[in-house]
Amino acid sequence: MNKAESQQIAGYLNSAGYQAATSFSSADLVVLNTCVVRQSAENKVLGTLGLLKGLKNKHPNLQILVTGCLVDSDTQELKRQFPHVDLLFKPSDYPELIDWEQKQGIPIDQRLLRYPRNDAGIAPSPCAFIPIIQGCDNFCSYCIVPYRRGREVSRPLGEIVCEVEELVRRGIKEVTLLGQNVDSYGHDLPGHPDLADLLNGLSSIDDLVRIRFLTNHPKDISLKLIEAVASLNKVCEHLELPVQAGNDDILRAMRRGYTVERYRELVHTIRCKIPQISLSTDIIVGFPGETEGQFEHSLSLVKEMKFDVIHVAAYSPRPGTIAWRECQDNIPSEVKKERLHKIEELQAAIASEINSQLQGREVEVLVEGRKGGKWFGRTRSNKLVFFEDAGGWLGQLARVQIGKTSPWSLGGEVKK
Ligand code: SAM
Ligand code: SF4
Repeated sequence: MNKAESQQIAGYLNSAGYQAATSFSSADLVVLNTCVVRQSAENKVLGTLGLLKGLKNKHPNLQILVTGCLVDSDTQELKRQFPHVDLLFKPSDYPELIDWEQKQGIPIDQRLLRYPRNDAGIAPSPCAFIPIIQGCDNFCSYCIVPYRRGREVSRPLGEIVCEVEELVRRGIKEVTLLGQNVDSYGHDLPGHPDLADLLNGLSSIDDLVRIRFLTNHPKDISLKLIEAVASLNKVCEHLELPVQAGNDDILRAMRRGYTVERYRELVHTIRCKIPQISLSTDIIVGFPGETEGQFEHSLSLVKEMKFDVIHVAAYSPRPGTIAWRECQDNIPSEVKKERLHKIEELQAAIASEINSQLQGREVEVLVEGRKGGKWFGRTRSNKLVFFEDAGGWLGQLARVQIGKTSPWSLGGEVKK
């Protein structure tokens, strides 16, 4: 979500005459798009704000804008703490940004907040991120998102389809639809369209090649959606389905709204309907009170499920959340680290095994750019693939024969 919003802001500023700087010290304007989902992310933000304060002392004309989840409704307190910041605006509160720019007398093209890509001269990746629902109504006990991004608000289906049609006219081949919980998309719209309806609508856009979406919630994902993924050719065989824990008592304390058994059944249904599905998940270790035995349940679920990718995080108490109010953060940080490493180590072995099955196989890669002298892109199942070739592959679908695999990426030779 932050990446999508950064793209929009960059596109907008580009239309106002700014160009990307290569460092803070050479910039006239810095926009800090913040994440505070964990304390470590917030610490990074605070460190950067300190650095920018020093820079502003040296260059008083430097303008500093801060957005993202750090900015809650009480901006007065933030203004008091960070007087060197010129503007604080809430995530997606672009009217506030536009108003500020107008006051600076800068010419603007507001349309570029919606269509940030080609005109903006941003890295011409063929992939775009499209927020479809803002906010979250779930209030998982550990999570700060609903407090910072507010309640769920879906964008009208027709508006999203028009936006994607325009992006495709400008060269986009793949869209990733974004929401904290894409499965509740549409419940607040007239006629209650859902994500499956949106996928159907987008599938009929001629030159759009691939559609992805994230994140799903195991308590809300519907059979209709699973069947849409199975039947629509453009929708990639990849689902982000965060489980968070492998123990029912911890899941209840997290207020996730499902049990391990329900999750297991869901994965079974998904794998029956979409045999090539690649599954990613999120896991939190060291939730308050998590015993060694309860952690072992998460480890065994990981062994059993054989996810393609796991994002694992150590529990971080977030002020204002239910867990912060009601539970003591009583798992020592060394224990959290140890549990985190155990999951990562186990997952590296599982991903290595899954990816090694692609050795010698030919995969379809949508080429996104170059890194370290090689082309890179992703398979439909979201595997990162590198290959070397002198040709111009950006935005093309390449057939790559896989010669090298690791838990994190694949390498191979392009077939011509
Ligand atoms: N909406 C998605 C879901 O239902 O899982 C995820 C959104 S959340 C912003 C992204 C991930 O951050 C979560 O899946 C969770 O693993 C992690 N996360 C959120 N709050 C956390 C906390 N207080 N401590 C550690 N990890 C946290
Ligand atoms: Fe946070 Fe996701 Fe739970 Fe919403 S569903 S509260 S974003 S973890």
